[in-house]
Amino acid sequence: MEQTIKSDKSTESGNVMYAVAMRGLVAFPKMVMHFDVARDKSVASIEKALKNDGKLFLVTQHETYVDTPKASDLYKVGVVAEIKQVLKLPDNIMKVLVEGVYKANLVRLIDDGDALRAEVKRTPTYSRAKYDMVEAEALMRSVKDVFERYSSYFPRMPKELLVSVMTQDDPIKLFEAVTFNCNLNYRDKQTLLEESNIINKLSVLFACLTSEVEILGLENLINEQTKNSIDKGQKEYYLREQLRVIQEQLGEDEGDEAFNYISDIMALKLDDKSQDKLLKEADKLTKLPPSSQEAFVIKNYLDTVLDLPWGKYTKAKMSIEKAENILNKDHYGLKKVKERILEFLAVHMLNPEIKGQIICLAGPPGIGKTSIAKSIAKAMGRKYARVSLGGVRDEADIRGHRKTYVGAMPGRVITALQQAGSANPLILFDEIDKLCSDIKGDPSSAMLEVLDSEQNNAFRDHFIEIPFDLSKAVFITTANDVSAIPGPLLDRMEVIELPSYTAEEKFHIAKEHLIPKQLKEHGLKASQLKIDDKAIHKIIQLYTKEAGVRTLERYIASLCRKTAKKIASGEAKRVTIKEKDVHTYLGVEKYSPDLSSKQDQVGVVNGLAWTSVGGVLMPIEVMVLDGSGKIEVTGSLGDVMKESAKIAVSYVRSVADKYGIDPNFHKEKDIHIHAPEGAVPKDGPSAGVTMTTALVSALSGKAVRADIAMTGEITLHGKVLAIGGLREKTMAAYKSEIKTVIIPFANKPDLEEVDDVVKDAIEFVYAEDLSTVLDTALIK
Ligand code: ADP
Repeated sequence: MEQTIKSDKSTESGNVMYAVAMRGLVAFPKMVMHFDVARDKSVASIEKALKNDGKLFLVTQHETYVDTPKASDLYKVGVVAEIKQVLKLPDNIMKVLVEGVYKANLVRLIDDGDALRAEVKRTPTYSRAKYDMVEAEALMRSVKDVFERYSSYFPRMPKELLVSVMTQDDPIKLFEAVTFNCNLNYRDKQTLLEESNIINKLSVLFACLTSEVEILGLENLINEQTKNSIDKGQKEYYLREQLRVIQEQLGEDEGDEAFNYISDIMALKLDDKSQDKLLKEADKLTKLPPSSQEAFVIKNYLDTVLDLPWGKYTKAKMSIEKAENILNKDHYGLKKVKERILEFLAVHMLNPEIKGQIICLAGPPGIGKTSIAKSIAKAMGRKYARVSLGGVRDEADIRGHRKTYVGAMPGRVITALQQAGSANPLILFDEIDKLCSDIKGDPSSAMLEVLDSEQNNAFRDHFIEIPFDLSKAVFITTANDVSAIPGPLLDRMEVIELPSYTAEEKFHIAKEHLIPKQLKEHGLKASQLKIDDKAIHKIIQLYTKEAGVRTLERYIASLCRKTAKKIASGEAKRVTIKEKDVHTYLGVEKYSPDLSSKQDQVGVVNGLAWTSVGGVLMPIEVMVLDGSGKIEVTGSLGDVMKESAKIAVSYVRSVADKYGIDPNFHKEKDIHIHAPEGAVPKDGPSAGVTMTTALVSALSGKAVRADIAMTGEITLHGKVLAIGGLREKTMAAYKSEIKTVIIPFANKPDLEEVDDVVKDAIEFVYAEDLSTVLDTALIK
């Protein structure tokens, strides 16, 4: 419905009505919209229009920044609207609700000075020209499609609107529903308003919406990408604000402390979850009285966590040549061991990311396992830390106690990392075979988690609570007895056995390594203490009895101490220790030269035993006395050895004839079997052959060769079964200058492990049954 303005200033040529120049907004017929009006002229136009018939011409400015628009600043097409409601806000601002009524061309703009008026000419909103239905249908589908995509960016768009658009089959209604509800650029909207052909209108709408959707998509992507960094920034800002308030409330000092914790935590670059956890703790701190027990616990916790080497990695430049030099410089001999270690290092060098390679250095104490591990760390350019597992029986030793426990601490693994000060150190787990498990939990399962490359990237210590990445660390373990390592742990390790040393090797180690090392440690120059070669040999032979060189090193240290005292007190300028002086410095000899029988004797046989300190020569003595068939076994023998003795007696009865033994000996003689050094407990089946030989010798009166030693388990029928620890046992035989060693035939392949020096010096006899043993050992 058209209306003429009944104003005195109306002209005959068209409708004249009050007008408002719109900035960035375009009205449409039938569209209800509200907008704020601030410019005086616009406010006046509305007030005057209200006093009139409430009609208003809304026309958009080309540019939003123009303050006092002239006709040329306005589009030529606008909308006549009806004012529905006006709300006056402070500062002379007006909120206006209007509904578009019809489209009109601007014929003339009349500036009254205080208000704007316009002469307008009504024009049809939609042209009546016929349009192609198929084309319209296709366009409608496209518009619906793009609107659906558009609405996906606005989750709060009403569902009903979406439904009504998607089901709309009238092109005009579809155009209006979409145009009125989409946030399009005002220039696009103006084009849509000016165009009157519905087909053109829909296609322009489609183009505008498509580009809008593209822009939205891009915006979303950028938002996603920047969201994280903004989130972090905002969080930090938020925390600092919070802290400022805390500081105000608590006073500077306490606030400062919490602030320091928070900035330290933020500096750690932890994952979000861990960081939140720590920030929560720091936040708790601000709410507690500073001297309370709880505050102390939290501070202790935060101090410990912050002290860990989060993300601190040492960069390693490794070369095999350098590694080889380091290993050779630090250690004498150990050729095979060094080779295996260099292979391990080569693999690490070619593939630093390799996981799950764990070396276990196995062998008796004092043979250099720990010091080899240190050299490996040096060669790999890593920090070194040692965790002793001997006697660990509580899971909490590995994993720590919950921080709420009184005196709680992190476990040994985390402590080692703390000591190493790097997140990729070499950690040595010493004596992994000595882990015990009992009711307090199974420490070996915690160890499994530590060593498992699949799990250890998020190792959880009970005290630390947040996960620590252990996957970049290198682990090495040591063990005296591989068979005592729990199976699942052993499965993860590559065992490298270290042999015990011969006397020559010990001599070289002492001369080239231990003496220079101890001299340095005691602040002595090489010229101030000279230890004669013979003196060194004497210490090795008569003062130590070990597979390794630990006691030897202790004695050398003792010589250095005594020398240092002499020099410091001015008693001497330099000291030379000769063979005969050893006694003066170190006291009486600790061991007799050898327990082995040096003369062919009746009833005495050199056995070979394996103990945790390596192999030893263990003679067995048998004495036969008139009596009533009693069997006496002495020398702290274990049950298995006692059984071996019984087997030996039964076997000897069965072959008494062959060796000229009185068949009634078991009734008329008492038998006493003894293993000297009675205080040392001994057990195991491998003394079977030795006991039988001693028994046959004692009963038959035939002497046994003193230059022979033997080892082997026996069966009742005289078969000789395989034994363990061949390398160590043969080493012991070699040290005692034994010429022939009888070993079970089944152990023949193990000779490969035996040291070359030993193989060169000893003749081996392989026994399948006891007759071979007796024939070799007894003197006919
Ligand atoms: P383990 O860990 O096997 O008990 P250690 O590594 O503690 O033994 O060795 C004891 C001492 O002997 C250390 O001072 C070590 O340097 C020294 N040592 C052992 N084997 C050798 C060797 N082959 N060459 C030089 N020094 C050695």
